[in-house]
Amino acid sequence: QADLAMYRAKDAGRNCLYFFDPEMQQALSARAQMESELRIALQQEQLLLYYQPQVNAAGKLIGAEALVRWQHPQRGLVAPAEFIPVAEASGLILSLGSIVLRQACQQLSIWASMPSLSELSLSVNISVHQFKQPGFVDEILALVERFQLVPQRLKLELTESLLIDDMAFSIERMKYLKQKGVGFALDDFGTGYSSLAYIKQLPLDQLKIDRCFIDGLPDDANDAAITRIIISLAKELNLWVVAEGVETEAQWKFLQAIGCPGYQGYLFGRPVSAEEFMKSALNSK
Ligand code: C2E
Ligand code: MG
Ligand code: MG
Ligand code: MG
Repeated sequence: QADLAMYRAKDAGRNCLYFFDPEMQQALSARAQMESELRIALQQEQLLLYYQPQVNAAGKLIGAEALVRWQHPQRGLVAPAEFIPVAEASGLILSLGSIVLRQACQQLSIWASMPSLSELSLSVNISVHQFKQPGFVDEILALVERFQLVPQRLKLELTESLLIDDMAFSIERMKYLKQKGVGFALDDFGTGYSSLAYIKQLPLDQLKIDRCFIDGLPDDANDAAITRIIISLAKELNLWVVAEGVETEAQWKFLQAIGCPGYQGYLFGRPVSAEEFMKSALNSK
């Protein structure tokens, strides 16, 4: 437990107690510092996208997921788990999200212009606040227009928690974009407040089976049962499925055998810079 020091404020006119927890204080100031550094990072374009390959059941490259990284001047490459929560809490996620979307769409247009990469799709993670912004739909449509994208190649990854607290709004917004051709994936499927009622109502194109269910394959009987069920559910609902976090041949074989259509994981490639991604995509041809 944290060493909790308690002080009675002597010179505060009121008789109140102050709690001072050095660990909490440290955490708060680290967060404040990260927030101000992140503000600078957004201005100085220190954020960049990495791309992780997605393959089909035959092992053929079909697309990628864009994953943000922070090229910090002192700390090097920082992972999103460290700064996305700070960005969410501070509102900086809105400008971060816009930068990510712009970079992703630009990359997609570069691929579209290269004969051997022109069919690739690109998935982009969208945060709650971003999705609910009044200008979100226009932002997406303007990017599609500006970069002359085939909208079907752009997939927006959402998480369940995001959609549930205002289902009617979420459904309407998704339907509108979907009618313009943009696709939707439900990320980290199985970890949230998953309810089949939601899955049925949302105009989704794909489910991404969370890595925690792939981990235990093929030996863990629960993980095997869960992945089987998700895949057959998706088939019934006419949804594409991507298994996340596939790391071993054994997991890949098992998932192929139960009819999983899409794959992403270190076995097929780690997230890498745009240049590296292009290089290995062209070499794999
Ligand atoms: P996610 O969207 O579920 O992305 C998948 C994460 O799993 C990525 O972590 C990826 O590097 C990691 N991963 C992929 N294959 C494997 C594997 O085989 N084994 C293991 N152990 N891990 C694997 P990453 O890049 O650190 O991103 C973490 C999370 O940060 C993402 O989870 C997503 O929720 C969030 N994120 C990333 N980029 C963005 C972004 O541009 N915007 C927003 N709002 N969130 C983002
Ligand atoms: Mg994702
Ligand atoms: Mg995920
Ligand atoms: Mg497990």
